[in-house]
Amino acid sequence: MKVLLVEDEPNVGSFIKQGLEEQSYLVDYAFDGMIGKQLALQNQYDLIILDIILPQINGIELCKIIRENNASIPIMMLTALSSTDDIVTGLDVGADDYLTKPFKFKELLARTRALVRRQSNNQHNAVIYTIADLELNTVSKTVKRSGQLIRLTSREYFLLHFFMRNKGVLLSRAEIAENVWEDVFEAGSNIIDVYVNYLRNKIDKNHSPKLIHTVVGMGYILREEV
Ligand code: CA
Repeated sequence: MKVLLVEDEPNVGSFIKQGLEEQSYLVDYAFDGMIGKQLALQNQYDLIILDIILPQINGIELCKIIRENNASIPIMMLTALSSTDDIVTGLDVGADDYLTKPFKFKELLARTRALVRRQSNNQHNAVIYTIADLELNTVSKTVKRSGQLIRLTSREYFLLHFFMRNKGVLLSRAEIAENVWEDVFEAGSNIIDVYVNYLRNKIDKNHSPKLIHTVVGMGYILREEV
């Protein structure tokens, strides 16, 4: 996890840098807005911590510049100005969170973790999954093949979602059961096969290429086969 810290007060800066490094974060430390800008635009970070009152370019301006170049990087503002106006301005220009000085390091750490976690969740939660001409939209919870809406029951939808998240991966019945059904089946239950067949009838039957394949004795795999 790589963090850019832009802070002009040496005591505060080195306190934060040292604390984060103790938690295994890699920290680049800029003393003013200009260096902060250069680093932010040249490197990939998981989080940027920005003081507001900075020499050269202030934190509000810098936040704007960073946002114009990167819409998703988490930004946390540090501010001694606890007035609501400054906080609102910071959030308006694209900060995700703010911390008012003085703060406890524990709190900075908790917020850092939350921002980094949120970011990595977003990256893993694709909105639309596709394979061949099949499309699953996780926001509208709809499925289309060749542009035609396919009506699935919720169990079929979750089963397909699991397949789509694991495109090209051989999935055992046990893995499917564990991820799509929370309850455990009695040995010998064929409910997975029954549902896979329901799903096949809806998404594969009248289409080509076939997407859900049986691997005898092993399980199922979603893939495009010529
Ligand atoms: Ca400052």
